[in-house]
Amino acid sequence: MTIKGKHTICTHSGEIKDTQFGGAVSPIFMTSSYPFMDVDIKRYPRYFNTPNQQAVGTKIAALEHAEAAIPFASGMAAVSTTLLAFLNQGDHIILQNEIYGGTFNLIQEEFHKMGIEYSFTDGLEAEDFEEKIKKNTKIIYLETPSNPLLSITDVKAVADVAKKYELLSIIDNTFASPINLTPIDLGVNIVIHSATKYLGGHSDISAGAVASTVENIDIIWNKAKNLGGNLSDFMCYLLERSIKTLGVRVDRHNTNAQFMATYLEQHSAIEKVYYPGLESHPNHNIAKEQMHGFGGMLSFELKDELDAIQFQNKLKLIKPSMSLAGVESTILMPSITSHALLSAAQRDEIGISDNLLRLSVGIEDVKDIITDIEQALTQG
Ligand code: PLP
Repeated sequence: MTIKGKHTICTHSGEIKDTQFGGAVSPIFMTSSYPFMDVDIKRYPRYFNTPNQQAVGTKIAALEHAEAAIPFASGMAAVSTTLLAFLNQGDHIILQNEIYGGTFNLIQEEFHKMGIEYSFTDGLEAEDFEEKIKKNTKIIYLETPSNPLLSITDVKAVADVAKKYELLSIIDNTFASPINLTPIDLGVNIVIHSATKYLGGHSDISAGAVASTVENIDIIWNKAKNLGGNLSDFMCYLLERSIKTLGVRVDRHNTNAQFMATYLEQHSAIEKVYYPGLESHPNHNIAKEQMHGFGGMLSFELKDELDAIQFQNKLKLIKPSMSLAGVESTILMPSITSHALLSAAQRDEIGISDNLLRLSVGIEDVKDIITDIEQALTQG
């Protein structure tokens, strides 16, 4: 039987049959010692090929409509290993200007030491990527919806540019999750996740993943076994277990976030809401076309007369958090966290005001999230 539905893939793809006891879930094989004689596969945790690593890789590959996938110890292990697998001294990579801060730091702090050149786009249109292409360009790297302004990049248009110039396209699909965006269907070559976010979904796992063709995953695997960012079997088991509910969780995140975005947009205390599911979002139509759902992340700006720190401190249900995408609603102020190192003028230029808040909408009853926001907006 071919498995097609996203919830069925979440629940069943990759599961390891318990042939010993017939149990319903994948057993955990907590061993780092496997035989080498008379075996087809020489297994070792740092070869990314233990039973639990393969199980979760198979599940993620099925969700991403990819031929293969491997799990990593963190999203950044997945990002760094993938980029270093394809970039050599003298190569050039183009990245969109709105990317995750950790990826930005990796590029800025490490790449010059290895003689790898990079350019950031000036905008998110396909032409913005195309105009940065040089003779030595190898990779185009994108991320959508972006953090924290939820900007939308036209994935197919950018993947088409990469194809035209025979470049590799790589996307960080963390914010959307494979439930809301399947970039391989749009022509992207490689998909990366911080599985610490929606794939894990319960704020208790640090993990990453990469999905692509068998050929690309082999190239990444070759670098991965040298760099050693493998995920432990116990974490693989937990991640596989978490992904079983990814579809239902993300559907609920989508519904709650759409409701919250609509509610906040009409609120007199709110200056602006950033959410791709709103018709007011400048790229709502592209999001509608390429996404299966608009996601659980949104940002909003309080009106000037309100104090964002006071607002945040008054919240009772919504927790301040550096991370996102858990089942619980969390909030973050980019100006004092992810973008604290920029000057106020630099933040202003990219649209990150002191009153901007990024909300990771959880799966609670939406009326309780609203009640919490309403009471925190009452300042005196
Ligand atoms: N990509 C995105 C979009 C992220 O938000 C993060 C972490 O916040 C990462 C990558 C890095 O993931 P990790 O923290 O699991 O290394």
